[in-house]
Amino acid sequence: MSESKNLKLPTSNKKQTFRVLLVEDDLAHEALILRSFETHPQYQVITKRTLADACQLISQYQPDLIITDVRLPDGDGIHFVDQCLHKKTCPIIVMTSFGDEAIAVKAIKAGALDYVVKSDHTLRELPVIANRVLREWRLILDKQIAVDQQSRLIAILESTPDLICIADIDGFLTYLNKAGYELLGIPEDKDLSRIRLTDFHERDDAILIMSEAIPCAIKHGMWKGETTFISASNGNILTSQVLITHKSADGDIDFFSTVAKDIRDLRSAEETIKYLAYYDTLTGLANRNELLKQLDHEIDRVHRNKMHSALLYIDLDNFKCVNDSLGHPTGDLVLKEIAQRLKTEIRGEDILARLGGDEFVVILTGLSSDSLEAINQARQVTKKLNEFIAKDIQVESMTFNLTASIGISMFSAGTDNSHELLRFADTAMYEAKKSGKNQFEVFHKDMSIKVQRQLELEHKLRKAYCNKEFILYFQPKNEAATGRIHGAEVLLRWNDPEKGIRAPGHFLDILESSSLMLDVGHWIFEESLKHLAQWIAEGLWKPEQRLSINISTRQFQDENFSQLILDLIEKINVPAQCIDIEITEYSLINDVKKSVSKMKELISKGVSFSLDDFGTGYSSLSYLKNLPVATVKIDRSFIQDITEDKSDKALVTSIITISKNLGLSVIAEGVETKEQLEILNQYQCEYVQGYYFSKPVPAIEFEHLLISKEP
Ligand code: C2E
Ligand code: CA
Ligand code: CA
Repeated sequence: MSESKNLKLPTSNKKQTFRVLLVEDDLAHEALILRSFETHPQYQVITKRTLADACQLISQYQPDLIITDVRLPDGDGIHFVDQCLHKKTCPIIVMTSFGDEAIAVKAIKAGALDYVVKSDHTLRELPVIANRVLREWRLILDKQIAVDQQSRLIAILESTPDLICIADIDGFLTYLNKAGYELLGIPEDKDLSRIRLTDFHERDDAILIMSEAIPCAIKHGMWKGETTFISASNGNILTSQVLITHKSADGDIDFFSTVAKDIRDLRSAEETIKYLAYYDTLTGLANRNELLKQLDHEIDRVHRNKMHSALLYIDLDNFKCVNDSLGHPTGDLVLKEIAQRLKTEIRGEDILARLGGDEFVVILTGLSSDSLEAINQARQVTKKLNEFIAKDIQVESMTFNLTASIGISMFSAGTDNSHELLRFADTAMYEAKKSGKNQFEVFHKDMSIKVQRQLELEHKLRKAYCNKEFILYFQPKNEAATGRIHGAEVLLRWNDPEKGIRAPGHFLDILESSSLMLDVGHWIFEESLKHLAQWIAEGLWKPEQRLSINISTRQFQDENFSQLILDLIEKINVPAQCIDIEITEYSLINDVKKSVSKMKELISKGVSFSLDDFGTGYSSLSYLKNLPVATVKIDRSFIQDITEDKSDKALVTSIITISKNLGLSVIAEGVETKEQLEILNQYQCEYVQGYYFSKPVPAIEFEHLLISKEP
């Protein structure tokens, strides 16, 4: 093949001229030859008389034909043929004298294309011979090219990684490339003539090839599809197969060829991508995308069959605690366990998905066509799911329980929005959560009106923050025995342009549910410290008095909480010893260790903490000793009935006694009457706060209180 690169092709230009190198030392012969070429202008003849001169010329002149005498003064013409022909740059005609036939044969063997026994006649005929030789040379070259081309094509076929085969019109193989042998697991010496490619297809695919692929390829020239080959060594191989019909010039089918590409890797990559897009890797359940797809189908189905379906939005209660206290790997195991429980508890035709985090969705399908009955069915299944989730969970030698809150959204013909359905069920789930853990609620229209109102309110609150409509009220904390002001609590108010001054009960939970709480919380703290700084400067505030500022769970759980507070204290320059922070146990409970370390960071600078609403949460009194709080604030609800309710009385007494034993001070909030105060005094409660002394008032009024109550 490499030789062919050197083959010089005479160009097939119409007005082509051929350069002829004539090597002849006999002057008479030379003259005769030149004369015979004179009548053939397509030949340009240049003459050399010695082998050396001729060889020297060849590289520059690049003759299309060499005509040489075999006997030359400086050597044997055969030698010349050998030398010049091994490059096969052009054809050579040798001329011999009469009786030199043996040499002529040698020359032909050496590669000369023709020989001429010199005579007047033959030398005159040389242009004709030259013509023939050049034509022959052309054919040799074409053949050589074809051979080269074919061996290249075969090399390509043999080295391609796809199966390529040729089959005769009856489907028997006539050629199979190397990859084909390997893919199908056939030994390379196997006789192909009795094998059809369809022998390697699965039955269905073999039928497909016969009934669809071949007719299509015959009609349109080509068929393309996916087929599976069964290989002796490689198992089932999914391929992308092309079948081509090759026809002769008169339109008869000559043969078929096929190319089959192994697409197993591609398919598994595609499947992984598809899986990741539609399934949750942790639990193997459908993810949100897949759920929405299936939900759309289900919505279509209820349209047709007039049945009801129910979408259950399941959210685990306090799952964050599991993650925070036991670590994420354990959390993952728990989620898998819950997924498994849900899977076993629902029917095959129901749909189960994980939306992410600790949220799951179940779609109960084929419920009654009677709406009330359908709701009952959904309730029953939900109850069962709740019970099932709440069973003991065993992970890594630990046993514990989890509960879930579930929102149910019913749907039937007339529903057409999957996103809305999900939102409804989510709303109902929140309602369930509010009414305590381990509950479920069925969505009803009022809930969505409520959601709408909440959204509007959130919008208004954002505006309120920008328009500086929030203000601070202050309520004194008094010494129970003397009534002297011991400090004050800062209480937020919203000066709503529509409804006037509004207490936090109307908006705080909405604020808390959005990140706006962080901004407003920061503002409250800063503003409180500014007032404090002013009162200190004016001599109204004593170093032993503390200003209590409420901190929401969201604020406290913010990573930068302590630093933000310390920065504010430094910026406004107030003594940290005058600041008290009121927190509830809800803020601490998620990650007690982290909470305590945050608190200690501030305590080390002089800030103190009060535990707000004590008695309403989870807290047992013994829990108190682990928390670095200075004060316990007994919730208003216990004070309210303290004069009548014996159990409240008992609880308040024990809170006071135990707190004192733990070295904590106690304040009772919501003291409204003289009787309540008297009882608290009797129990030796140190501090009180409530309408009996003062309602929360604006800063200016509070200043008057500070002045008037000065001893
Ligand atoms: P809280 O921290 O338990 O605050 C005490 C609530 O009891 C205040 O309600 C106060 O006005 C009210 N109160 C005080 N004395 C009496 C009384 O004798 N009788 C009655 N019936 N109520 C009394 P307010 O101001 O409506 O605040 C409600 C809740 O909103 C607060 O409960 C607190 O949890 C939250 N909050 C108020 N201000 C802020 C704040 O600046 N930041 C944060 N994060 N929460 C705040
Ligand atoms: Ca408080
Ligand atoms: Ca409180």
